[in-house]
Amino acid sequence: MSAYDPDNIFAKILRGEIPSTRVYEDNETLAFMDIMPRADGHLLVIPKTPCRNVLDATPEQLNAVMATVQKLALAAKRAFDAGGVTIQQFNEAAGGQEVFHLHFHILPRHEGEPLRAPGKMGDFEVIAKHAEQIKAAL
Ligand code: AMP
Repeated sequence: MSAYDPDNIFAKILRGEIPSTRVYEDNETLAFMDIMPRADGHLLVIPKTPCRNVLDATPEQLNAVMATVQKLALAAKRAFDAGGVTIQQFNEAAGGQEVFHLHFHILPRHEGEPLRAPGKMGDFEVIAKHAEQIKAAL
């Protein structure tokens, strides 16, 4: 497995070098909106400390991230009056990972509504509005 690259896009978001729509943070974790949302309210949860994915994360990083995943999954479910929540996480390129800083996807879901296709940029204003909805539900 390759070493952690400190110039990956989420490391830059953590350092404030590129913009993001933040919805929650604590000492160990950050949650922000995915720019290519596959569902309304699609957000990402990451640790503030470096690791590529689940395969090299410490138990402490996983504990902190999972606590925030649960908190944000509940908030996103409430914010969108969703029937359920899909949580996705990919490990290494062969496992579908594109950004090599550990992250969990949180996707509010409604019965019978498929996820949108990946790779399509969302509307910034709509994403910002959805972030406010989630913050209000926290
Ligand atoms: P994956 O590594 O396969 O989980 O995919 C990376 C995810 O990060 C995709 O859902 C992208 O839409 C998302 N993404 C990439 N760049 C950004 C960014 N600058 N801000 C927010 N989300 C991003």
